[in-house]
Formats: sequence, C-alpha cells, structure tokens
Amino acid sequence: MPNKIYRPATLLVHQGIDRDPHTGASAIPIYQASTYHHPEGKPGEYDYARSGNPSRQQVEDTIALLEGGVRGFAYASGMAAIGSALALLKSGDHLIAPEDLYGGSWRYLNTVLPQQGITASFVDTTDLAKVSGAIAPNTRAIFLETPSNPLFRITDLRGVAALAKERQLLTFLDNTFMTPLLQRPLDLGIDVVIHSATKFLGGHSDLLAGLVTTADPELAKRLKHFQNAFGAVLGPFDSFLLARGIKTLKLRLAAAQNNAGILAERLAEHPAIKCVYYPGLAGFPGRDLHNRQASGAGAVLSFELREEARVKPLLEKVRLPIIAPSLGGVETILTHCWSMSHAAIPAATKQALGIRETLVRISAGIEDAEDLWEDLEQALSV
Ligand SMILES: *Cc1c(COP(=O)(O)O)cnc(C)c1O
Repeated sequence: MPNKIYRPATLLVHQGIDRDPHTGASAIPIYQASTYHHPEGKPGEYDYARSGNPSRQQVEDTIALLEGGVRGFAYASGMAAIGSALALLKSGDHLIAPEDLYGGSWRYLNTVLPQQGITASFVDTTDLAKVSGAIAPNTRAIFLETPSNPLFRITDLRGVAALAKERQLLTFLDNTFMTPLLQRPLDLGIDVVIHSATKFLGGHSDLLAGLVTTADPELAKRLKHFQNAFGAVLGPFDSFLLARGIKTLKLRLAAAQNNAGILAERLAEHPAIKCVYYPGLAGFPGRDLHNRQASGAGAVLSFELREEARVKPLLEKVRLPIIAPSLGGVETILTHCWSMSHAAIPAATKQALGIRETLVRISAGIEDAEDLWEDLEQALSV
C-alpha cells in the first residue's frame, strides 16, 4: 500500500498497488493459481489461494484505502460479504435491522440466521427512539442501509453509531448505494462497512463481488479468520474485473448521478407518476440529514405509478434500460421491486412497508440523459 493517502480519484486509479512488482505490467495479473510453492518447505507471502492471492489483495487493499479501513476483504458476492461480516455474531445474539432493506439481506436475516440461533428485529431505523426501544439484553449489533432500498428512507448514521457505542453494540452498514465516494461510514462511527461490489464498484454488470472493511484491528482479525475458515472468497478473475471497474468509478458515478437527477425531476412532473423517491429532490424527507452524512444523492431512484395498469405497458415498451434486479451498471437498469429485488419478502410485508406493485426503481446509467428521458416518456404514454 502507498504511504501517502491520495485523494479519491487518484486512489481509484492507483489503488493499493498499481503495477506488477515482478514485471512492471500496468495491470496486476490474474493469479489463476490455487496454491503457492513453499521454498524449502517454508511459506512465502502467499501460501494457498483461499488465504490470499495478489489479484484479490489488490481489491482488498483498495476498499480499505477508499473507506479508511485498516484491512479489506473480498468475497464471492455481496451476500457472501454480508453473511461473512455477520459471522462476527454468535448463537444467542440479537440484531436490529431496518424494515425496508435489500430483499436478499431480509431473506438471510429471516431464514438463515435464525437457524444459527441469531434473531433479528426489524424497526424503522430512521427513528432513533425506535432503534433504542428495540435493544434487548442479548442485542449485539445494528445492521443499517441508508438510503434504504427501495424507498430511500434516511437513517442518522452518527446518531445510531453514538447510541451503539453507548450500549456497546456493533454497527454494520451496507454502503452499496452510496459507494465510498459519496458516503464514508467509518468516519461517522460505523464499525463494519459492506458493499455489493456487483453494483457501482464493479460497474459493468459483468461480475458478482462483495467487499467488507473496518477501522478496528481486532474486528479485522476476526473477519480475516472467518474469511479464511469459511472460504467465500472472490476468485482471481473476478478480482481483476473488479479492480478494473473501480478505476473509473468517479467518472461513472458522476455521470450516472447527473442522469438520475434529471430523470427524478422530470418524472416528478409527469402526470402518470404519483411520487418520486430520490434524496436529491428538493423537499424530499430526510434530504438534509442525508446531505450531512453523504456528498451526493446517488444514481438510483424509485417512482410510484398512479395506476397499476401502467406497470405492464411500461415494462413492455421501455427499450434502453435492461429490466433486471440489479443496479450500478453503466447501462440504465429498471427494476420492478415487487417481483424482482424484493421478491423474497412476503407480499403482506411489502404492502405494510409501502413497497407496492406500482413501484419502479431506476438505476441511471451513463447514457445520454435525453435518450433515457425520451425512452421513458414514450413508455409511460398511453
Ligand atoms: C445487490 C445488493 C446486495 C447483494 O449483493 P450480491 O452481489 O447480489 O450478492 C446487498 N445489498 C444491496 C444494497 C444490494 O443492492
């Protein structure tokens, strides 16, 4: 890792290591090897690829540098990262989580962790009193997402972090929507930051990856132990793709965020649209709080159609965006949350949370905004 801490765009390009130390190659090679020779029977820096390899090391060092962590960890997917980070908890522990969190995380907390003796309570984390009220004697951690997905509710990160410190609870934040460029949770007091690097960090909708980092050396030691013991690691080729994607994050995110702002404002004026959820819109609930803890509104927004009958024609007529459960790619992605990203959540729970069948999420890509708007407009017209 470089001794000097560079500014974000420089870090993105030069990362933890920016050339192959053995050959000077401009990209770290894909070390497609499962094991490493032990000269005279003694291990070198790398001994077996589950424990570490130079391709993975590059992205692990990079996420630590970007978030201000002491060490980074790369996993085979965002869910592998979430599961591996939550392995800091043990049987008998209780966890507090937001009501409207990513569908896959909801499924993990509801159907997998209980089998390991870890229970979760889902509360409105935008209300600190509700978070505080949910703390039980066996509560060990608070898991957060802000802005939340898909309704963009804003949780006070400094507030929850202070409460957690007072009650000796660990805090986890899924920072996928913001990326380290827009929100730096470790600086706000959060213990463990998680990314689905499948989204903005990878940025090209061509790989699955997850990243974790922490500023606490003791937690880093435990995360490293579990990563090696459990083995849900990111492979060398995907590490290479991720390192490559990360280099252009600043440019991609700026362009996508700009497009999201344009689409959000125009959608808010469109007669077929009931409301738009985007923290960049003037008067959006939680916007001021968001702006105190993040430096941009991001590139994802949701909107609610007035009539359910308009959903099917929209999905049929729209041509540029891919219709899929993902976000953060260079191409615009349109998600019907009800049936895609939040399919794992039971219908009644979704209804109660306000995730309706008329809700559509857009992850703005980096295309020309006018093309995106013309396409959406024709798909929204009857
Ligand atoms: C996609 C996503 C995940 C899961 O990541 P995978 O790479 O698909 O396993 C977790 N959290 C959020 C916010 C996501 O958008």
